[in-house]
Amino acid sequence: MSEEVSQPADDATDSAERAFRAGFVSFVGRPNVGKSTLTNALVGEKIVITSEKPQTTRRVIRGIVHRPDGQLIIVDTPGIHRPRTLLGERLNALVETTLGDVDVIGFCVPANEKIGPGDRFIDERLNDFPRAKKVAILTKIDSASQTEIIDQLTKLGAMREWDAVVPISSTEDQQLDILSEVLLDLMPESPALYENETITDESEDERIAELIREAALAGAREELPHSLAASVDDREEREDGLIEIYASVYVERDSQKGIVIGKGGQRLKSIGETARKGIEELLGQRVYLSIRVKVLKEWQRDPKALGKLGF
Ligand code: GDP
Ligand code: MG
Repeated sequence: MSEEVSQPADDATDSAERAFRAGFVSFVGRPNVGKSTLTNALVGEKIVITSEKPQTTRRVIRGIVHRPDGQLIIVDTPGIHRPRTLLGERLNALVETTLGDVDVIGFCVPANEKIGPGDRFIDERLNDFPRAKKVAILTKIDSASQTEIIDQLTKLGAMREWDAVVPISSTEDQQLDILSEVLLDLMPESPALYENETITDESEDERIAELIREAALAGAREELPHSLAASVDDREEREDGLIEIYASVYVERDSQKGIVIGKGGQRLKSIGETARKGIEELLGQRVYLSIRVKVLKEWQRDPKALGKLGF
């Protein structure tokens, strides 16, 4: 095979002439429409929590897509929703500051669910950010029929004058390259804003804590997600290269502590095993992980506790 040889010469000229672009993009949409999965798929490394449960992404995390002709910095927001607690209010404030600052907003709607009031609520909020270019992203096209996809694209197109409309599947890697290109085309001309190897600027400890939180949430009952937080308390590298990590999982009530720990500690043990595998992949080193479960009463409503957990 001689693919390299047969590559047309003007291809190289083209990309050399195209101006380098860099900028910020944020994906918005109802919970569970696939924002985090999309971020992960574009960046190519697991950095954002995905989960079956709504609203597990609680932090603004940046993922960076490096391309020869530009850089896409993805700001993952917790999602726009009605505030119910102090945590909810802070999350909404975070969304506002984030969106006021991005070059492109990607509005995500799943192909396999009807556009509803939740989508329209968010779409209307996009008017508050006139500076940002707006792209409609139809997600999960692998789980919808051709007719459904076309129907949904028509409805999306009628909502507003989008700068682009792109159907994608993150799990089946459909049209992700096209989406990257479209997003990059809408970015301002700019030199690279981050070093080439940077994938996220979230600290390693925070990423470890997210992995633990994600493991604790997997298979958890509905009542748990909003009351779970995790932190890394201490890290120590042993002489044999093993890294000892001491972490805490916070719940709000004693009853929840029992749920996380499970009968005879079985659930906590499997949480630890799952999280450890993810952390070892992240760090590229063997890990000893110790997790303690602590009750922090009503932490979602307590400013001091929120501060301690980095919100
Ligand atoms: P978020 O709340 O918008 O961040 O949504 P997530 O990224 O956490 O995804 C919610 C659920 O949708 C998860 O179970 C994902 O596995 C699933 N999902 C995300 N993208 C796709 C996709 O392209 N195809 C399919 N079939 N499922 C997807
Ligand atoms: Mg998410």
